[in-house]
Amino acid sequence: MPSIFANALAQLESAARQMKLPKEILAVLHQPQREVTAALPVTMDDGSQKIFSAYRVQYSNARGPYKGGIRFHPQVTLDEVRALAFWMAVKCAVAGIPFGGGKGGVMVDPKKLSAGELERLSRGYLRAFADVIGPERDVPAPDVGTNAQIMDWISDEYARVTGHAQPAVITGKSLDRGGSRGRETATGRGGFFILQQLAERLKLKPEKTRLIVQGFGNVGMHFTRLACRDGYRLIGIADSRASILAAPDRSLDYAVIANAKQDYGTVDPCRCTATKGKICRCPDHRHLTPDKLLTTDCDVLVLAALENQITKANAGKVKARIILELANGPTAPEADVILDRRHVTVVPDVIANAGGVVVSYFEWQQNRENVSWTESQIKQQLQPVMEKAFQEAWELSRQQRINLRAAAFQLALTRIAQSIQKKTA
Ligand code: GLU
Repeated sequence: MPSIFANALAQLESAARQMKLPKEILAVLHQPQREVTAALPVTMDDGSQKIFSAYRVQYSNARGPYKGGIRFHPQVTLDEVRALAFWMAVKCAVAGIPFGGGKGGVMVDPKKLSAGELERLSRGYLRAFADVIGPERDVPAPDVGTNAQIMDWISDEYARVTGHAQPAVITGKSLDRGGSRGRETATGRGGFFILQQLAERLKLKPEKTRLIVQGFGNVGMHFTRLACRDGYRLIGIADSRASILAAPDRSLDYAVIANAKQDYGTVDPCRCTATKGKICRCPDHRHLTPDKLLTTDCDVLVLAALENQITKANAGKVKARIILELANGPTAPEADVILDRRHVTVVPDVIANAGGVVVSYFEWQQNRENVSWTESQIKQQLQPVMEKAFQEAWELSRQQRINLRAAAFQLALTRIAQSIQKKTA
């Protein structure tokens, strides 16, 4: 298993070299400020007890409280959580919101737990890390495998442990527990705003722009919904169970895919994958292997699943001219070099998927002021933040002839360095 944190450090070092980041700053950013590990005992429904490995990594609070989601996934490792925490620090700085970077994780397959087991695990997570989190210290949120219900349990448990309710301790809660309107759709919507920015600059016409989307969780789904509504052509879609490609000159129908996901738990509308059918008789699409979909001809490849999807093994075969990273860390550093050489425009995760944490910031502000913004207020405030982050990175990348990831890192590292220098002055 490649080290995801090594990928993150390679990105850091490359940006630090290009921008001549002071050595002392690089040394500070080379490791997290703090890592906490816990073994969480959970009583299962059958009365037995299972232990789950859990982490909270607090990478940097130079610009504000640590901020970042909690991931529930069977392959979670400390190495991965470290990388994700680092990317949060970069992301918040690029977006210009006053947070640092943190991340949490539990090595668990949440789909295999009952609701009661999941609740006990979530509450146990809070109790294990209650001492290090707090509205002004470290503010978790959802990530892969976690959702508003889990945030509600964690917020409730924090109130129990501390003796008073402080909804600003966690974001991504449900609306009636102090969550924000528009948080659920925020990452996908933010990614869609970035697609519009790209379209403007690269003169893309939606009806002529073919999208392939890998990942149909919360992020991939809302992004795809908005893009299809705007007239973009969805020609391929994948989730962890199926990869579907539209027949030549056809597009996939968003409603059909979304209904399949809801009814069968997969984007596969004919369930050929689910039934292991080798011959799909549906005239409008065919089934591919997951890797094949990533290297199929399209205009924009949207990566909305997990890390390390484009590596040196498949980067040379990618046919898209644009990659939009809605997942964290989907492109390995060696792949970046190959994509650069091939003039593929990669919009990095730290810009493309920042919509989630930006609306988390809005939620945190609403909680602290005890107010509730309307959905249109949220959308109106999210859009300029996303556009500014993109524009700044775009301009820097043109000026210095560097790619968008390098530009985003330079912007972020300059801001983080200023905060570190101010604190140590
Ligand atoms: N998990 C999301 C991310 O990776 C959101 C984090 C947050 O809202 O704090 O950006």
